[in-house]
Amino acid sequence: MFSKILVANRGEIAVRVIRACQELGIRTVAVYSTRDRDGEAVRLADESVHIGPAPSRRSYLNAAAVLEAAKRTGAQAVHPGYGFLSEDPDFAEACAGEGLVFIGPPAAAMQRLGGKISARALMAEAGLPLLPGGLDAMGPAEAQTLAGSIGYPVILKPSAGGGGKGMTVVRDPADFLAAYARAQATARMLFGDGRVYVEKFLYPARHVEVQILCDGHGGAIHLGARDCTMQRRHQKLVEETPVPGLPADLIDRIGDAAVRGAQVAGYVGAGTFEFLVAPDQSFAFMEVNCRIQVEHPVTEMVTGIDLVQAQVRIAAGEPLGFGQDDVKLRGAAIECRINAEDPTRDFAPSPGRVEEFRPPAGPFVRVDTHVRAGDRIPPDYDSLMAKLVVWAPDRDAAIARMRRALAEFRVSGAGLRTTTGFLRDLVDTPAFRQVTHHITYVDEYLGQAGRTESTGSGATSEVA
Ligand code: ADP
Repeated sequence: MFSKILVANRGEIAVRVIRACQELGIRTVAVYSTRDRDGEAVRLADESVHIGPAPSRRSYLNAAAVLEAAKRTGAQAVHPGYGFLSEDPDFAEACAGEGLVFIGPPAAAMQRLGGKISARALMAEAGLPLLPGGLDAMGPAEAQTLAGSIGYPVILKPSAGGGGKGMTVVRDPADFLAAYARAQATARMLFGDGRVYVEKFLYPARHVEVQILCDGHGGAIHLGARDCTMQRRHQKLVEETPVPGLPADLIDRIGDAAVRGAQVAGYVGAGTFEFLVAPDQSFAFMEVNCRIQVEHPVTEMVTGIDLVQAQVRIAAGEPLGFGQDDVKLRGAAIECRINAEDPTRDFAPSPGRVEEFRPPAGPFVRVDTHVRAGDRIPPDYDSLMAKLVVWAPDRDAAIARMRRALAEFRVSGAGLRTTTGFLRDLVDTPAFRQVTHHITYVDEYLGQAGRTESTGSGATSEVA
C-alpha cells in the first residue's frame, strides 16, 4: 500500500479523497491554487503545495506543476478526482514516466474510451446496444445523409465532450448543416477537438448508469445502477439508486453489459458506463466516465463499499477480494447537488461570501462539502458547494428524508443564492415521486424546453 498520495483536485472531491486516505493510514498532499489557499483540502491534508494562480489551466490543469509537487513531496501515487486531469491519458502516462501511480484506469483504456466516437466503436464490437448514429468522424454532407437515414430529431455531440456541454439537438433537417458547422466550432472551442458525431435523439429517455470496479487480476463487477434522469440542460441535479420503476432483470442486463464493455476495454479501477433507456425499456450505451463520478456516494450508501478506498486499493495492486454475488444492495439513496446558483436568474452562478453554512444532520444524512462559513465561493471553478446524500430503507422514506434535510440546510451570504429550495420542490413533484420524469423534464417544468441559445455558451443548444 502507498504511504503518501497527492490529491490533484480541489473542492469537495479533494476532501473526499483525503478522508479515504486518512482512513487507510495514508499521508496526503493537497495541491492548491492561490484562490484555494485557505481551503478545506489544504486544512485536512498532511502537506500542501501551491501550484499556481486561480485559473484552472495554470493550476489544476497544469500537469507539470502537479507532477513537480508530487516529486517534491515524495508522493507515490496521484488521485485525480473528477474533472481537471482525471481523464487525460497523457497525464496518466506522464505520472508513470515519473514513477508515480495514477489512480485511475490504464492510459490505454482511457484512450480507447475517452473519445466518445472511439468508445462507441469499441462498445459496438463488444456487442453493447447503441443508438443509431456515427461510428466515425465525418464531413458535413456525409453526416447530413446519416442524419436523414437515422430520422430526426438527432443530437450532435462533441467526441471529446463532457459535463453535458456543447451538444446540439437538431429537429428540422433544414437546420442540419448550419448546426453541424456551429457544433464543430463549439467543440473546437470548448474541448480543443472539433470532431462531432450524429446520434438519434431519444425522447423521452432516462439516464441510467452502472458503477463498475475492475482490479488488475481479472476481477470485474458492477455495483448496481444509478438513475440520473433529473437533469437541467443535460447536467445532473438529483441522482439515486436503485433505479426506480424499471424491472430488476433489465437493470441486471445493463449491469452485465457494462462489465462486458469494461473487460473488452481492458479497464482497471472504478468507472461508470452510461446508458439511455427508452420508454419501451430498450437501452443503449452512451459513454464511459473513466474516473470517480460526482454521484458515487449513493452507490456507497446502498452497498457499504467505499469507492475511493477501492480505487486506491486497486491502484496499489490489490485484488477486489469479493465477487458479484457478494454485492448486496440495501435500501435507497438519493443525492442532490447543492450549487451556488440562482434559480430565479436562469441558474446563473452566484459566487460570493458564505456567511452562514449549517449543513443538515440526523440519521442517514451525509454531506460531502469543502465549504465553511466565511469562505468565498470563487467564480473560477464549478458552482458545486455540497452534495447532500440520504439513505432510507425505501425510496419514499428517502424522499421524505431528503426534503427534511434540504429544509434544514442553512446557507446564506450577501448575494449568495443556492439550489436547495428548488431541489426541495423538485423531489416533491408527482413526476419524480411517480417516476414519470425524463431527461428533459426539468427543462419543460421550467418552461425552457426547445429554446434556442448560443452554442458558444457551452450549454446544450436546441435548434428548434
Ligand atoms: P457528457 O459527457 O457531456 O455528459 P453525455 O454523452 O454523457 O455527455 O450526455 C449527457 C446527457 O445528454 C445525457 O445524460 C442525456 O441527458 C443527454 N443525451 C446524450 N445523448 C442523448 C441522446 N442520444 N438522446 C437523448 N439525450 C441524450
